[in-house]
Amino acid sequence: MNKLIFNFNSKDVKKIKNPKNILGGKGFNLSEMGKMGLPVPPGFTISTNVCELFFRNKKKLNSKIINQIKIELKVIEKEVKKIFGDLKNPLLLSVRSGARVSMPGMMDTILNLGLNDKTVIALSKKTSNARFAKDSYRRFIQMYGNVVMGVESHHFEELIENYKLTKGVLLDTELDENDWDGLINDFKKIVKEKTKKDFPQNVFEQLLGAISAVFLSWDSNRAKIYRKLNQIPYEWGTAVNIQSMVFGNMGNDCATGVVFTRNPSDGSNNIYGEYLINAQGEDVVAGTRTPQHITKKARKDANVNEQSMEESMPKVYKQLTKILKKLETHYKDMQDVEFTVENNILWILQTRSGKRTSKSAVKIAVDMVKEKLISKNLAILRIDPSSLDTLLHPTLDENSEIKVIANGLPASPGAASGKVVFTSEEAERLNDMMQDTILVRVETSPEDIQGMHAAKGILTARGGMTSHAAVVARGMGRPCVSGSSEIDINYDRKVFKVSNLEIKEGDIITIDGSTGRIILGEVPTVKPEISGDFSKLMSWADKVRKLKVRANSETPLDTKTARDFGAEGIGLCRTEHMFFDEERILSVREMILSKTKEDRAKALSKLLPFQKKDFMEIFKIMNGLPVTVRLLDPPLHEFLPNSDKEILDVANVVGADVKEIKSRISELHEQNPMLGHRGCRLGISYPEIYEMQCRAIFEALVELKNKKMKIAFPEIMIPLVSTETEIKIMKNLVRETAKKVQEEKKVKINYMVGTMIELPRAAIKAKEIAKYAEFFSFGTNDLTQTTFGISRDDSGKFLNDYIENKIFSIDPFVSIDDGVEDLIKIAVSQGKKQNKNLKLGICGEHGGDPKSISFCSKAGLNYVSCSPYRVPIARLAAAQAEIIKR
Ligand code: PEP
Ligand code: MG
Repeated sequence: MNKLIFNFNSKDVKKIKNPKNILGGKGFNLSEMGKMGLPVPPGFTISTNVCELFFRNKKKLNSKIINQIKIELKVIEKEVKKIFGDLKNPLLLSVRSGARVSMPGMMDTILNLGLNDKTVIALSKKTSNARFAKDSYRRFIQMYGNVVMGVESHHFEELIENYKLTKGVLLDTELDENDWDGLINDFKKIVKEKTKKDFPQNVFEQLLGAISAVFLSWDSNRAKIYRKLNQIPYEWGTAVNIQSMVFGNMGNDCATGVVFTRNPSDGSNNIYGEYLINAQGEDVVAGTRTPQHITKKARKDANVNEQSMEESMPKVYKQLTKILKKLETHYKDMQDVEFTVENNILWILQTRSGKRTSKSAVKIAVDMVKEKLISKNLAILRIDPSSLDTLLHPTLDENSEIKVIANGLPASPGAASGKVVFTSEEAERLNDMMQDTILVRVETSPEDIQGMHAAKGILTARGGMTSHAAVVARGMGRPCVSGSSEIDINYDRKVFKVSNLEIKEGDIITIDGSTGRIILGEVPTVKPEISGDFSKLMSWADKVRKLKVRANSETPLDTKTARDFGAEGIGLCRTEHMFFDEERILSVREMILSKTKEDRAKALSKLLPFQKKDFMEIFKIMNGLPVTVRLLDPPLHEFLPNSDKEILDVANVVGADVKEIKSRISELHEQNPMLGHRGCRLGISYPEIYEMQCRAIFEALVELKNKKMKIAFPEIMIPLVSTETEIKIMKNLVRETAKKVQEEKKVKINYMVGTMIELPRAAIKAKEIAKYAEFFSFGTNDLTQTTFGISRDDSGKFLNDYIENKIFSIDPFVSIDDGVEDLIKIAVSQGKKQNKNLKLGICGEHGGDPKSISFCSKAGLNYVSCSPYRVPIARLAAAQAEIIKR
């Protein structure tokens, strides 16, 4: 269909295949609400296709589109009986962006469009409210001047502040029509001064300028960053919604607000929101005035006196609750609704799926199943697996000393400690140095998004639960305490004050985004547990999924965590990581630096008891479950001694002098250690290393078995294999050692031998390799590295350029690339040709990435393995993959 512009009531929307993609989320929902008969101010949507045309046409709207806009304007004029630019009864418009998915605060909005020096007089006469008309005009100049003409908003704000100071008043509401007259003139002057252009008086020119600005905001830096963080493709573009204005700022029988059909913070089934009497939408989200509660209960719970909407506008409140119920039942999801009350008449301006905390997302999904609103499968699909991250992170240990210095709103849950910083730049700088920060701002704006991402937590002095800080932090999963009026921030001196306490930049504080507490110093945290609604949802997911989920773990603590989170085995135990401990690393260095077999044997004999003990603990925890133990695969450079002290320590143990050790280190130095003497290449050169490891594994199993303990099922994995002969030799070595131990101890142990597939040659030659491997585990970290020839250690330096130039849409080390997928498909099909019972898994970082898990499910793998904290994410993603496949 080549229709580009759609009235909210247009029947043509039905004919579009993916209406949300064309109309954007906001436009589509406005059109849905129109059809449901809800009170939506008339308007139309300029489709996302126009966004593409706009950029192709040198950032201009072509005449065909302009004509269509004119036609649609006429339709609105007829419906509301007002005329755009009319000197008697002027139609005013709002112009808002609307991408496929909502990007809160990222894109531009313009309200009150259509006001100029003449229409403002008409509006004033028509409404008999000159103050309102002038207030609306100054707001329009301010917004348009900023968004379309590029005048920084602080110029306008400073003018207002000066004006209030001269007049000796505190609030905008204390300014009268004459004050606004003065400010309108000052605003126009500042626009002229900064842009060398007059503020446009032609209303159609205003409209075209606003539409272009919305499209251009798709290309803004903050939108680019948001898209990158949320993996939103540039090609989607934004739609533009033009809607006739309704006014919440015409007097005390007017209001504007934002309301959620359920509580977005804890998921409880109570409507939750904020409103302001005599205000326009941006006043609520900008946090410039502290909004009031919608319900009486919420007001009482918060212990405030200002009337709730339920109390001040009971009739409209009742109508609103009915509409909210209707919307939730229609969309079968929690909605975030913007509304305006104009002279006691309710208007719904938009509805969208409400952003919520992970905890409330789970509760809402489970509750909706109980309420028979959605199915279990839909509940599973409703939860973004990655968002579970926040549920799996620690909360404050309430038994420790907690010195609360102030409180704010519990805007986004979780606890975080870090150094106080006052700018996004500082948060980013310290993050690069691996230091944790809490970003403290009066209020946040979209410019702060990178800093919010770099910080561990966000604290603001102003703004409610729907402020920018709250919404964005929730979306990012960062803990946030917002609107703490108890703190007084001084950016110049880089301090904030709480009563008589002064907190400086660099001081450590803790914030608890679940309760709103602000605490001095660092507070210990406790590990979360899977219980209640979360465990119910996970049990539904477990019933659906076919893929098993294992964990990558090599310590008893991680193994225990993995079990608690539902891991069904270990998919990768990196044995070299078991040597990082100070006591062991010396013996490892001794082993690596040994020149003779005898010396090496001596070092290995010291390592054997450590290895055996570690394995025993892990095998015990994973009783009855498979544990894939990977034989040593150290990129040597990670283990060689660096400092003089480390070199001296090794020299002492080996009984050599420092010079000799240094020369051995330089002999072992590799130009390209990632492609060097690692993996099974080490086992080929020094079979005694792998023999020691196998002995440790089997002796551990024998010992546990002798103690009548249920033991794990060992799967011994050979790393970095690329040829059939390598795996043949290695398998033989494992077999021989296993045989020896079993004969010595007279105990039989069942086990498997398999290989990692982490080199392209191994994937291509999988049929030959499968002659000797009983299982394959895809090591997609190295497979990605070697497929692209991009070093895992160095990719960070240029990956951003690749993403910016749209060569990669996402880091291939995070989410499997389709070229790597092809290699996996080849390996699966070739391997299965040789051995139809071949067990298949993945243990690279991709094993915890939902998109990659979906691929693994389709490719017919038996399990994924990921870090312990990602196990629940993987369980849910595996279930989603199964549901989508059906
Ligand atoms: C891999 O390469 O994907 C893998 C799991 O091994 P490592 O990260 O230890 O090289
Ligand atoms: Mg590897």
